[in-house]
Amino acid sequence: MKKSAGEKTESDIMTHGTNPYEIVKSLLKESVSRLGLNENIYHMLKKPMRVLEVSIPVRMDDGSLENFTGYRAQHIDILGPTKGGIRFHPLVNIDEVKALSIWMSLKAAILNLPLGGGKGGVIVDPEKLSDRELETLSRTYIRKITPIIGPQKDIPAPDVNTNPEVMGWMIDEFDQLRGYNIPGMLTGKPIIIGGSLGRLEATGRGVALTIREAAKILDMDLSKTTVAIQGFGNVGSMTAKFLHELGVKIVAVTDAKGGIYRKEGLNIPDLLEFVKDKQNYASDYQNADAITNEKMFSLPVDILIPAAVENQITKDSAPTIQAKVVAEAANGPTTPEGDKILEEKGIFVIPDILCNAGGVTVSYFEWVQNSMNYYWKEEEINQKLEEKMLFGFDKVLKMRKEKQCFMREAAYMVGINHLVKAMHARGWIKEDDLSEE
Ligand code: NAD
Repeated sequence: MKKSAGEKTESDIMTHGTNPYEIVKSLLKESVSRLGLNENIYHMLKKPMRVLEVSIPVRMDDGSLENFTGYRAQHIDILGPTKGGIRFHPLVNIDEVKALSIWMSLKAAILNLPLGGGKGGVIVDPEKLSDRELETLSRTYIRKITPIIGPQKDIPAPDVNTNPEVMGWMIDEFDQLRGYNIPGMLTGKPIIIGGSLGRLEATGRGVALTIREAAKILDMDLSKTTVAIQGFGNVGSMTAKFLHELGVKIVAVTDAKGGIYRKEGLNIPDLLEFVKDKQNYASDYQNADAITNEKMFSLPVDILIPAAVENQITKDSAPTIQAKVVAEAANGPTTPEGDKILEEKGIFVIPDILCNAGGVTVSYFEWVQNSMNYYWKEEEINQKLEEKMLFGFDKVLKMRKEKQCFMREAAYMVGINHLVKAMHARGWIKEDDLSEE
């Protein structure tokens, strides 16, 4: 029987592997303890403050009616409105959305952005939808979550399988419901209707900046460095673009359909042109050899960049990794077992909540520009992004030194510390709650 666009099979769920919400909870717990804070802090942070599940009925082109499921999680709003992307993927589930909302809070906290974490998702395979069906789904989803979103409440953005076009439909739906134009209700929208210059490139630009900083510490000459990237969507392709500009040789790129490899380095400008109109997968590119995702992880490269989905660096793939640096452009690409192996191998990990924080940073800039109704030049945005990324990187490095720990633990501790200060300032917690019993 044909599987419909919103349906998940048992094997889909199984291949998704480890539960990201359980992973983030255990990392929060460990970090709270390592900071010498009371376990109550962990209990405060582990639960999103609000989670909404919605049904999204869509009339399909063949006349049938399909009812999709969507979610929106809002983690904590003590620093400002919650903020985070919307994902369309068949493996979206409530725990994934909760985990992603917590990661968003930590990213904002590390970079000192006045925002909390949010995340949304719809269980759907967008490739199975026509353009009209996709637009109807996007508009209906935003209508369903309208009561809890808005520029002062919760601000969505693009994530896996959503893009400026989808954001354009969503903001139009929201504006029509409200009866006036509210550009700051979401970010990552087309520039003509209030999007920010540099937003499309922001996450990849931020990833490349963190790699540049890591290379300084590790004494790596980027012009002699090789890279493999998993995922060639927004984040993977933009990371490739900026690394290529830094003189890095990108030898392999994979996506959901397969991968390509060229020992001498892929022609990145040509590859970017090839995928530009979204008609082609990077893995269809002809001037390279074919490679599987599995094989890509084990290539003898200096830097490995997971830029696709969760749970890719696992107990099975981690032992094969030869890279000296893993830059987590994706959210949650490494399982705890995989992480342990990376640590044992002495691989320098740039953790997701730091590495890919460029996206939320320029989303924040977009929201600021929308609020003042005045728009900055791209150079100004890129410069502000660099300042924020370096600020976050430096804070995490200092924490790593102070606590003699790994980068991921340090990033969690920096984020938690910041949130704890805000909770304290609001009177949510008292001195007693801060110290371990
Ligand atoms: P995207 O939809 O633009 O691209 C995803 C890419 O991953 C595609 O090339 C797809 O083919 C590939 N892919 C999917 N499943 C795969 C698999 N199993 N193996 C190999 N490749 C696979 O999404 P994106 O916006 O680039 O997001 C990628 C990651 O970066 C996600 O984890 C997302 O949460 C994270 N992220 C995105 C942003 C942003 O601004 N878009 C910001 C921060 C973090």
